[in-house]
Amino acid sequence: MSDVLLRVIAADGQIKMTAVSTRELTEKARQIHKTLPVATAALGRALAAASMLGSGIKHENGSLTFQLNGKGPLGTVIAVSDSYGNVRGYVDEPSVDLPLRADGKLDVGAAVGGDGYLTVIRDLGFGEPYIGSVQIVSGEIAEDVAAYLVESEQARAACALGVLIDTDQSVRAAGGYIIELLPGAPDELIDGLESAISVVGSVSSVLDSGTAEDLVNMLLVGYEPRILEKREIEYRCNCSRERVRGVLASLGKSDIEEIEASKEVTEIICHFCNTAYRFTPEEIKEIIGKSKE
Ligand SMILES: [Zn+2]
Repeated sequence: MSDVLLRVIAADGQIKMTAVSTRELTEKARQIHKTLPVATAALGRALAAASMLGSGIKHENGSLTFQLNGKGPLGTVIAVSDSYGNVRGYVDEPSVDLPLRADGKLDVGAAVGGDGYLTVIRDLGFGEPYIGSVQIVSGEIAEDVAAYLVESEQARAACALGVLIDTDQSVRAAGGYIIELLPGAPDELIDGLESAISVVGSVSSVLDSGTAEDLVNMLLVGYEPRILEKREIEYRCNCSRERVRGVLASLGKSDIEEIEASKEVTEIICHFCNTAYRFTPEEIKEIIGKSKE
């Protein structure tokens, strides 16, 4: 079953919800980066969050970068979404392994670390990008997303993210949701949603046996949810030989002359998909020539 993103409104437009199921794309990320479970969970949560936040960008060429720097053993966790919700990402240290928490769950908070920032860069496809940053609350990511939404967009928001890892370390279920309340929403609506959120519980267990639609219907029961849009999303990297050439051409002249002087084939590997691009010394010379023009 392919991954989906749902955009939903409920309670006469007072509730806005985005929900994703992301098992396939999280498993793809795991295979590309050979992540161990706690890294798979952290990256999977970041990818789901980036997809939901990025899909709200209106302009086709827009993108969203979701970056966690919590000084934990995973290093930086990065997820990038296009304006449709397709994502790519990586963690600095994919083979980090940590003991489970006392409750038997993966310790994503300790792996990400709680001393640093969540930075969200929204490139609307034109002009300067908007950069928002909040102090990491727990490193469990969903809480950090909610804090970001509250602080940067003054929204009343709830976020849940989950990745369930199977016994063979593959991804068994993954996804999440963001619920935002319009300003002026009555207190009983907030109370009702809070109790629905606690009754529904873990996102990954809902998605293990159900769909993103089930998540919407369980959380918004009684609020007449209406699915405005359903998109199929996937793990997608936009790198290409041309783009890598462009990056090389934009390097400083001394950097690129150093590469050229080595007289060896230069290999550049894409962080997001591990594709290797090789350039001969002649090609590097040609790129230098172009960048001088
Ligand atoms: Zn790539």
